[in-house]
Amino acid sequence: MVCDEVPGRVRVAVRLRPRNAEESVADTDFADCVELQPELKRLKLRKNNWDGDTYQFDEVLTEFASQKRVYEVVARPVVESVLDGYNGTIMAYGQTGTGKTYTVGCLGEEDTAARGITVRAMEDIFANVSFETDSVSVSYLQLYMETIQDLLEPTNDKIAIVEDPKTGDVSLPGATLVEIRDQQSFIQLLRLGEAQRFAANTKLNTESSRSHAILMVHVKRSIKGRDAALSTENGNHQDMVKSLKPSVVRKGKLVVVDLAGSERINKSGCEGHTLEETKFINLSLSALGKCINALAENSVHVPFRDSKLTRLLRDSFGGTARTSLVITIGPSPRHRGETASTIMFGQRAM
Ligand code: ADP
Ligand code: MG
Repeated sequence: MVCDEVPGRVRVAVRLRPRNAEESVADTDFADCVELQPELKRLKLRKNNWDGDTYQFDEVLTEFASQKRVYEVVARPVVESVLDGYNGTIMAYGQTGTGKTYTVGCLGEEDTAARGITVRAMEDIFANVSFETDSVSVSYLQLYMETIQDLLEPTNDKIAIVEDPKTGDVSLPGATLVEIRDQQSFIQLLRLGEAQRFAANTKLNTESSRSHAILMVHVKRSIKGRDAALSTENGNHQDMVKSLKPSVVRKGKLVVVDLAGSERINKSGCEGHTLEETKFINLSLSALGKCINALAENSVHVPFRDSKLTRLLRDSFGGTARTSLVITIGPSPRHRGETASTIMFGQRAM
């Protein structure tokens, strides 16, 4: 493995969901379809009961891994670099029902130990900003059939993706950007976004697993010159003003993506609207896979332009940005095929 020598490479963690009640009953006679070796950061996909191919990842998180640990290995390094003024992306990929939303989006309102990546990331961000000089603002979007919807302002459905040809910065003119100062207002905003998402999806007659949910957090920090701090200690205001070094502004953007379910919907079995949805999901997930692959191979051409999802991520993906992908899988041997395809998706980044 030469992974960490490749700049901008996507780091990949695999997380196994515990058996749910139904699987515990239905699959008692079966072994899980995977065997995890977390110390070796390896996972074996069983062919029959014991044999199988083994795959290496950056992290292997078992069904016993806590949300806190998942945050620490998957997200904290990305959040730290955002606080330092870089962009970063955290994504969850997997079949519907394997724990993507639990991993990134769980609010943990009844059980704080269950809080997911987003809530923990905001906690870390709030602990490291000072609102006298800094700001934190949030956009929350849904990407459905190559259309971006604003989850903070549902009437707003004409959001374009604009890329600055000089800086490469991606902006979304028209998307609602809400400045927030504390965790409580953040949670409130997320709840509002979730409600809008549900309403929008009901209207479109679809499910949230058929779209990507994208949270963007813009962090702007002002780092003061060292002399300013020293003069303040002396308490001499005049001196302080004289010796104030221009402060350095650091702007970072954190993007958290709860991807659409990766399950292969049998095209022959669906028609009309469902078939259209399926085509769009396949388009964006395969475009994402190609970009991840290109970064892993250090290729000069990363095909960001192939989908809205990848165009949106362009400035927060590869290059100086840190990117973390968590692939979620379930233990059931009945979904072995889907599990295998999720593992292969993750392997493309290695
Ligand atoms: P997805 O978003 O991939 O469709 P969910 O996050 O909704 O999947 O998870 C499906 C169910 O499994 C939910 O009830 C969720 O709370 C539960 N779940 C997922 N992962 C875990 C986990 N690691 N520990 C406990 N429960 C989990
Ligand atoms: Mg989900």
